[in-house]
Amino acid sequence: MNLEHYIGGAHVPSVSGATFSALEPASNETYLTVAAGGPEDIAAAVAAARKAFTDGPWPRMTGEQRATVLRRIAAAIESRDDRIAALECRDTGLPITQARGQAHRAAHNFRFFADVITTLGEDVYRVASAQLNYVLRKPVGVAGLITPWNTPFMLETWKLAPALAAGCPVVLKPAEWSPASAGLLPEIMEEAGLPAGVFNLVHGIGEEAGAALVEHPDVPVISFTGETGTGQIIMRTAAANLKTLSMELGGKSPLIVFDDADLDRALDAAVFGVFSLNGERCTASSRVLVQDTVYESFVERLAERASRVRVGAPDDPATELGALVHPEHYERVMDYVRIGVEEGARLVAGGSRPSDLPVGNFLSATVFADVTPNMRIFQEEIFGPVVCVTPFSTEGEALELANATRYGLAAYLWTNDLRRTHRLARSVEAGMLWVNSQNVRDLRTPFGGVKASGLGREGGRHSIDVYTESHIVHLATEDMPIPRFGAA
Ligand code: NAD
Repeated sequence: MNLEHYIGGAHVPSVSGATFSALEPASNETYLTVAAGGPEDIAAAVAAARKAFTDGPWPRMTGEQRATVLRRIAAAIESRDDRIAALECRDTGLPITQARGQAHRAAHNFRFFADVITTLGEDVYRVASAQLNYVLRKPVGVAGLITPWNTPFMLETWKLAPALAAGCPVVLKPAEWSPASAGLLPEIMEEAGLPAGVFNLVHGIGEEAGAALVEHPDVPVISFTGETGTGQIIMRTAAANLKTLSMELGGKSPLIVFDDADLDRALDAAVFGVFSLNGERCTASSRVLVQDTVYESFVERLAERASRVRVGAPDDPATELGALVHPEHYERVMDYVRIGVEEGARLVAGGSRPSDLPVGNFLSATVFADVTPNMRIFQEEIFGPVVCVTPFSTEGEALELANATRYGLAAYLWTNDLRRTHRLARSVEAGMLWVNSQNVRDLRTPFGGVKASGLGREGGRHSIDVYTESHIVHLATEDMPIPRFGAA
């Protein structure tokens, strides 16, 4: 199979003819050759998108008209549900049952933003009876969308849906380790009747195609999801053109368990929160903080459950933990396992390749106990099926540990004490907190992180803010006094 770029409604190879290979994580064999974009391909895609912005119908359509197309995109995604799940499973190593959920969520993203754009009002401010100030929202221009390799189709649509709803033509640069499912987007957009040039896709390596998109002066907004370090590079590059940036970055999210919580449910949430999606999840609960009164028994039960998490072929419906995305990433995660052991953390589950899976990027669900905040495995994002468990005694200590990393994406709290919940909700350093719950998304709410986990929020109206400019119009409805300089 070969994948090309999609520019101005046509499938095209790279101007240079360059390609790269994509590997199947379960075997590490090449199964896909992909066009490797560079600055010329990005320039062509931005030119097509810019033309769609200045001359095309899309930015000028009503919200209702755009919503009709978005709903058709959702239907086109749903009709390809099995294909998307199968591609995602093969391309990223995600277990097939979890890949299916991603295709559903992708369709939901489009339906949701169709509703947002049709129900969106514009703000009006009245100054007594003398003046009316009203906000005009305008699509900001060509949107550059750069996405990571984890749950790629869902995350691509999480950006595409609001950008298109707002009226922005887009250039999407998917991650090079998981390009396959994005290859379905051109036919989906065509089937839905999206005008040519509104959706453009350029594959390629981040430092080449991604960097060229960030540098391009005709792309006023970049929505990026990926590593914190890449986000920092993008911010530096984007500064030259003062671009709007939305940054969804890394995480090292704590799950805090107090002894008054429903410990059975907390255990289910801890296991699912870090081992679902292969642990390659920005909001993974990768640090579990447990009150010392229940610490030993919780660690024991967590280790026992982890040891029973079924690791296996991504396309097997019984598999709970599949193959990590790429051998390079696998090595990185395995390095962290070695580092954890060297640092003196207690390995109580996993830590190695299952013996029945000799090839591919497989790692058993791994649990380190007695992890202390000075350890690298406590501080750094591992982005795999590895969880660190740390004891605490008081609420103050739990908070200190929760906030003791550079990240601040999500946090999870397990307690039945209402006042404690409110106290911690105010002081935990995270963009999002789930209380006595697993990570259930509500697309209306602000999604994003604090500290090194990101800048800005997406979700509901927050996403529309990213892709629109607000112009304020001040309109006198009565004669306002005007100082008469020079009239005396
Ligand atoms: P990454 O930063 O390596 O790559 C992300 C994207 O950026 C890819 O498309 C890549 O090609 C591109 N890129 C790389 N260098 C670039 C450059 N110099 N200029 C422009 N683009 C460049 O991230 P990844 O390894 O693909 O994804 C995993 C990371 O994403 C983790 O840190 C994870 O926490 C984070 N993530 C965050 C969220 C969130 O919502 N906060 C969601 C999912 C993933």
